Amino acid sequence: MAGAKPLYFVCLCVVIISLTTAQSSRSRSSKSGKGKDDLKIEIEKLWREVNSLKEMQALQTVCLKGTKIHKKCYLASKGEKSYHSANEDCIAQGGTLSTPRDSDEGSSLRSYAKRSLTGAKDFWIGVNDMTTEGKYVDVNGLPVTYFNWDRNEPRGGARENCAVASTGGQGKWSDEVCRSEKRYICEYLIP
Ligand code: CA
Repeated sequence: MAGAKPLYFVCLCVVIISLTTAQSSRSRSSKSGKGKDDLKIEIEKLWREVNSLKEMQALQTVCLKGTKIHKKCYLASKGEKSYHSANEDCIAQGGTLSTPRDSDEGSSLRSYAKRSLTGAKDFWIGVNDMTTEGKYVDVNGLPVTYFNWDRNEPRGGARENCAVASTGGQGKWSDEVCRSEKRYICEYLIP
């Protein structure tokens, strides 16, 4: 967790600098009677900065605990959940269900899954055809353009609408019943 310390320092500096700026602008504008408003604006600005630093720090923690690839960090779940609960859990942590967008991401995800989801045969990915059978979309409802289906998959028809990726082989995908409880990996986009 050594990586978190510099952020605290940066955070503290921002607070001090912003407070100093807020104070000097308050004393400047007190004559015009706008001091309170200026201070309020400064405080709001300060809150936004602190919150974005907090987000950066949370992301750094995630990336340290999990694994970092190009523009993304992955962090494995502890337990098994249904597709919906798994995605909700990822969203609550500021991410989404992992969704490989090309073969490079697919192989990075599979190799991370293999070492972090010990004993799991497969895991949820953010790909489903719940709305329209056969039309696969990501967790934001946008069409998926990269696929890695296993041979003869998907084959569950209207009964199986959520995708899993295998932890073995080439990380090939299959469709599954969304209510099944599976391990999962959340992905976090790096700004
Ligand atoms: Ca289906």
